[in-house]
Amino acid sequence: MLNRSKFFNIIGIIFGLFILVAVLLPIVILPSKEALTNPPTRTAMAAQMGLDNNVSEPPPYVYYLSDIPIMPPPETAVYDPLTVSERKISELPLTLPQVLPYYGEKTVYLTFDDGPDADNTPAILDILEANNVKATFFVIGNQVEKNPDLLRRIFNAGHAIGNHSYSHIYKDLYQSVNTYTDQLEKTDESIKRVIGVRPRICRAPGGSSGTFNKEYWDSLTALGYKEFGWNIVSGDASFTKAGQLVANIKTQIKKNKFLYSHSIVLMHDGRGHSETVKALPEIINYFKSQGFEFRVINLETPPAW
Ligand SMILES: [Zn+2]
Repeated sequence: MLNRSKFFNIIGIIFGLFILVAVLLPIVILPSKEALTNPPTRTAMAAQMGLDNNVSEPPPYVYYLSDIPIMPPPETAVYDPLTVSERKISELPLTLPQVLPYYGEKTVYLTFDDGPDADNTPAILDILEANNVKATFFVIGNQVEKNPDLLRRIFNAGHAIGNHSYSHIYKDLYQSVNTYTDQLEKTDESIKRVIGVRPRICRAPGGSSGTFNKEYWDSLTALGYKEFGWNIVSGDASFTKAGQLVANIKTQIKKNKFLYSHSIVLMHDGRGHSETVKALPEIINYFKSQGFEFRVINLETPPAW
């Protein structure tokens, strides 16, 4: 028979164990509060992954996606210290975490494709800096190799960088899913050689509609790329004059109020787009006057449509 004091001893031990588990469990399972507010530095992450680290710490407004489940601050550009092949070798996950999309009241994402270009990109960077606005640059691999200093400047200014293929030549690029993803990986490597990290966001040259089938989408998901289209066109692909570019954007914004929460504006900083440079100050002024916040494309950005 269990006597009274033995019974209370057993109850005491069970209660003690319960308290111990309740206290220790959150410490073991959850990241510390400090880890949540201070994401790990690149140096710390590189050391953790056993990598060489010759790259300086990033500016505070960019974030290196790690395999630690901590969400980047919402306004920051997101980069990865590892390429697809490095992830495969290290047996690290390739796919991206599921993230709730951010729909602001009035949010605009300015995007510039086909650079970096020796003339247009520096001019655009000057205008963005003067207006204290961050944007997203979808760069071409072979242009990165020609203009590494400009890529570094985009990165250091806290803009987001996305992958826009290596050659941008449709007949090479869209031969198959493999030729497409090979170009993405080649571009990542060119980017990483310059800034030490690579993007996880990308944009299909000419857009995904009409070029992608399910196989392309499945492959991008499996490799951990997030594809971004656009929903506002400046019309600068056809070398329209600056005044008309501004008018095109205003017309579409007024017509499509449902896009206020995530207006993604397509522009180009590639060769021959000097009219975009001329139009940009007025485009920025227009969005500012309408009360839009400017964001860079990251994992929280909703799909264009
Ligand atoms: Zn393009």
